[in-house]
Amino acid sequence: MKNIMLIAPPAAGKGTQAEIIEKKYKIPHISTGDILRDVSKENSELGNYVRETLSSGNLVKDEITYELVKERLSKDDCKNGYIIDGFPRNFEQALAYDNILDEIGYNVGIVIVIDIDKETLEKRIIGRRICDNCHAVYNINEENHKPKEESICDKCGGRLYQRSDDNIEAFQNRYNTYIEKTSDIIKHYEERHVLYHVNGNCSIDEVFSQIDELIKK
Ligand code: AMP
Repeated sequence: MKNIMLIAPPAAGKGTQAEIIEKKYKIPHISTGDILRDVSKENSELGNYVRETLSSGNLVKDEITYELVKERLSKDDCKNGYIIDGFPRNFEQALAYDNILDEIGYNVGIVIVIDIDKETLEKRIIGRRICDNCHAVYNINEENHKPKEESICDKCGGRLYQRSDDNIEAFQNRYNTYIEKTSDIIKHYEERHVLYHVNGNCSIDEVFSQIDELIKK
């Protein structure tokens, strides 16, 4: 199985697509955002720093992310492939990721960019809810993506919450950072002929079928 990297702006449906791929191909979904949200719950200097940084929509220091990514990819469940989402976020991280992969003997696999309009993202960000326990993603403003019971996860019964950075102000910051930082990352993987684009302005199933075609290729 190939390793898969997903690149997309905030609220483009990366988490949702990763969840579908994870289920179909039985490979783990590694989201640096999820890992950092777990760290932010810790009552420590690191936990406090990460919590404050996440709420502002700014990026956490690179070195912290490298440690966390390397530690996670070194686990046994990544041996048959994994989906990485949220990393790399800038060109320096892309170079560091190349080194991490060399060190643990993996290759980058395929890189998939989900292209989507900014207006669609703004609408989505307001309604997004996430499970505290299993990280499943819902949208209370979308009929076919709502939880059956308000605030309760359909899959595990966990509590649904709204991310502290899912507001228009933090979104603008995260979106601008995405646009500014990803062009170099995209170029880096285009040059290696491992990068593909999918159209994210359609239904979850339609986006997945484009991704699935690329995985099967
Ligand atoms: P996400 O869930 O991918 O939208 O990430 C949520 C937040 O976690 C981001 O706004 C950053 O503050 C932080 N974060 C996630 N991935 C990274 C990364 N690769 N480098 C630095 N900060 C990150």
